[in-house]
Amino acid sequence: MTKYIFVTGGVLSSLGKGITAASVGTLLKHSGKKVGMLKIDPYINVDPGTMSPLEHGEVFVTKDGAETDLDIGNYERFLDTSFLKSSNFTTGQVYSSVIERERAGGYLGQTIQVIPHIVGEIVSRIKEAGKDHEILVVELGGTVGDIEGLPFMEAIRQMKHDEDVAGTYFIHVTLIPFIKAAGELKSKPTQHSVQELRRIGITPQMIIARSENGLPKSFKKKLAMSCDVSAENVIEALDAASIYDVPMSFLRQDILKPIAKELDLGELVPDMDEWDSLVKKIVQPKGKVVVGFVGKYLELKESYKSLTEALIHSGAHLDTRVEICWVDSEHIEERGAEALLTDCDSILVAGGFGSRGVEGKIQAIKYARINNIPYLGICLGMQLTLVEYARNVLGLEDANSVEFDENTKNPMIYLIDNFLDQSGDTQVRTHTSPMGGTLRLGEYPCDTKEGSILREAYNGEKVIYERHRHRYEANPAYRKQLEDAGMIVTGESNGLIETVEIKDHKWFLGVQFHPEFTSRLQTPNPSILAFVKASIDG
Ligand code: GLN
Repeated sequence: MTKYIFVTGGVLSSLGKGITAASVGTLLKHSGKKVGMLKIDPYINVDPGTMSPLEHGEVFVTKDGAETDLDIGNYERFLDTSFLKSSNFTTGQVYSSVIERERAGGYLGQTIQVIPHIVGEIVSRIKEAGKDHEILVVELGGTVGDIEGLPFMEAIRQMKHDEDVAGTYFIHVTLIPFIKAAGELKSKPTQHSVQELRRIGITPQMIIARSENGLPKSFKKKLAMSCDVSAENVIEALDAASIYDVPMSFLRQDILKPIAKELDLGELVPDMDEWDSLVKKIVQPKGKVVVGFVGKYLELKESYKSLTEALIHSGAHLDTRVEICWVDSEHIEERGAEALLTDCDSILVAGGFGSRGVEGKIQAIKYARINNIPYLGICLGMQLTLVEYARNVLGLEDANSVEFDENTKNPMIYLIDNFLDQSGDTQVRTHTSPMGGTLRLGEYPCDTKEGSILREAYNGEKVIYERHRHRYEANPAYRKQLEDAGMIVTGESNGLIETVEIKDHKWFLGVQFHPEFTSRLQTPNPSILAFVKASIDG
């Protein structure tokens, strides 16, 4: 039977609930426990994949091809584990499965209501995610008091009394503001949000208090008293130099003790030595390297979360700070690649959708190619390397991806109308297919070519596994022409072109997959690690 740790948030959003949940999970995992993670999103969207990255940050893709909230990415990066579809669900998914079951006659004519049906569906999804784990850490999105959160609160309240549940523990993450004019830390917002939780029937056992400058002992005592927890159950979460330092900071405050006591977990002594030494290299590395990051969702850096984290992981393993020089591809269109990229040790063109900024990305690729600058192109960044090569080396002036020019005579990147998906089923997609759920998603094998920088990056592995999220593919009709002219296909998956490299270039790799999705602090992604290494070697 599984034990559950529920993490709720109070006062306001963006307090780092996801990092908190991931940190608690990490400490438990490093103590030898079998830990699962679940993120519940109270928004109505059924498919987080169609949400704008500018509004919601990155869409993360799991191994089994689910498009999820970016917190799942944090969980994977912290726990060094691949989580599946079942690690994230939304209100929309809960309702749509209940409604579907109702339409199919599954409720035998009952009146369908939030209680018990919606709440029941939520409980069963949480338990499904908890199956096979000793402990499941559940993060509830949103803030206590949100209308959409209520059914979830009710569900986790009910689970306290569930016979199939071995134990529950409630952690509440809040903010302690410091009012400068009064020179005082304020506990009132936290008290109110704890009261709100109690009104619903949940008494949090631990308060994790975000504060800018730390909490004096006397304040902690007062907070503990007013929130009805013991003082050792108030943990402070200061702004950390690196998110990966949060588990260490929790550990220094003995966070596991009260949790272990309440959930009867025995004595927990997590082995965090390797983790700690990596964090030290993030915070105070020996070297530094500058990567020119060409993208278009730069207003919200969270939309490239996995990639920026992946660069940090590789940097930690190479004892180097990877400084990102953010370059908006539309600015390249105005000012040229050289003006914006000249101070960079290497160039990275990230994935993306839609035509805005594409020509700027192509200019950046050309600049990297002709000037022998280490280059990594990811997904769209790989597709455009073929377009750039076709235009400027093969002389096919109108070469393009059909995503941007449906009528191009030279569709380097095209839409294949059917392919075998992850589970071996045939998927069909056309220009008129709906945008939601029609991407090639999740993990696929990729055969690497002998002697390629790809194979070298993966320590000689003949077959590697990486995740995908794209609709278009490199067109094999141009393969021979490209190879004759020096652009070599070095990775293939079931006949699809997965990676390309350029002969006689220091380090140039375009990958159709998203290597960033499999990068973790302890095991950085090999292609990104090799890229950062090439950037350092210059
Ligand atoms: N827009 C491109 C496609 O759909 C690339 C997607 C991406 O970079 N993730 O294939």
